[in-house]
Amino acid sequence: MAELDYYAILGVDAAASADEIKRAFRRLTLEFHPDRHPDDAQIEARYRQINMAYDTLSDAAKRSRYDTQRRLGQLDLSKGFDGQTARDLLGNMFGDVFGSRRNQRRKGRDLRYTLSVDFVEAVLGCRHTIEFEAPGPCSQCGGSGTAPGGRPPEGCDVCGGRGEVKGEGLFARRTRCGRCDGTGLVQVEPCAGCRGSGARRQPRAFDVKLPAGTVAGAERLLPGLGEPGRFGGDAGDLRVTVNVRPHPRLQRDEDDIRCDVHISVAEAALGARVSVPTVDGNVDLDIPAGVRTGTRLRLRGKGVPRTDPRRGTPARGDQLVGVVIETPVLSSDGGGHVRAALEALEQACVEAGAYPRRAEERGGTARAPGAGGNGGQTR
Ligand SMILES: [Zn+2]
Ligand SMILES: [Zn+2]
Repeated sequence: MAELDYYAILGVDAAASADEIKRAFRRLTLEFHPDRHPDDAQIEARYRQINMAYDTLSDAAKRSRYDTQRRLGQLDLSKGFDGQTARDLLGNMFGDVFGSRRNQRRKGRDLRYTLSVDFVEAVLGCRHTIEFEAPGPCSQCGGSGTAPGGRPPEGCDVCGGRGEVKGEGLFARRTRCGRCDGTGLVQVEPCAGCRGSGARRQPRAFDVKLPAGTVAGAERLLPGLGEPGRFGGDAGDLRVTVNVRPHPRLQRDEDDIRCDVHISVAEAALGARVSVPTVDGNVDLDIPAGVRTGTRLRLRGKGVPRTDPRRGTPARGDQLVGVVIETPVLSSDGGGHVRAALEALEQACVEAGAYPRRAEERGGTARAPGAGGNGGQTR
């Protein structure tokens, strides 16, 4: 990692007087002024370095601290000496020149939230405003952590801006600097509202949009809506995990939706029109006469919206309706009229040959339960 030596940048000796530094600075700013080299990023970067070096070396107090750390070899000059000043001078466009400078910026933590939505909302897509209390940018300092009008943060003098300190001994491990919490920067005049962190707990609201076809357990990432970063670091993200409340009748099967519809024996034989729930509301479904158990009837285009990957056109899956013939439940008093009617039905069916498959399986011996109704023939 190339270290930036401010003395080298200004082309002066480490023992140079204030006058020598000033003269070097004037000469160099003339030579490297961006106005004289339009659209030359390298020249502009150099110009910024010169300003940064002069900013430190022209200030007796800053220079003294810089010299101390330079002597101790603690100075990671690539991070800039006085972080805030360096960053002010460099601006965002020079982030690449001093890439490691980003180390000082601390990305904010992610926020997590579990959003429960209805089955239909997940299938068709929806929008929700979620509200909860979480750290957000401090309103007093705008998230900078510096008191309004106060001096900007400075390099941490405990760790020399490295963010970590070395313990005693030959094989001492490096540990996170406690003074600056590893950021390498400290607030000189911290904001009273957030005690310098830039973040404050507050009610926060987020607009979360779920696309059609969202599955249970899906995570939506909302970049930059998490906790604020420190010292100009990016905010964390908001991670929303989607919980889908089950529907009493409908189930997902990839792009299709499945449900069962129960019909009576009579409806199965005669055909029926039944109302079936879909994600678009109830629709009438015609059950053909003679339908058999296990038949799946298809409601085209009532499934999950999707984009056809080949044509890029919106399309939808289907809803598959499974037909279940419900067996009549007899009342506890023996069945009464229902039993009598079923026995009559059975008798009529046998006589009419209305159960050809059953008759075939039983070798044509299928008989109706006796008129006495003991039902013992099923054993
Ligand atoms: Zn520190
Ligand atoms: Zn604040």
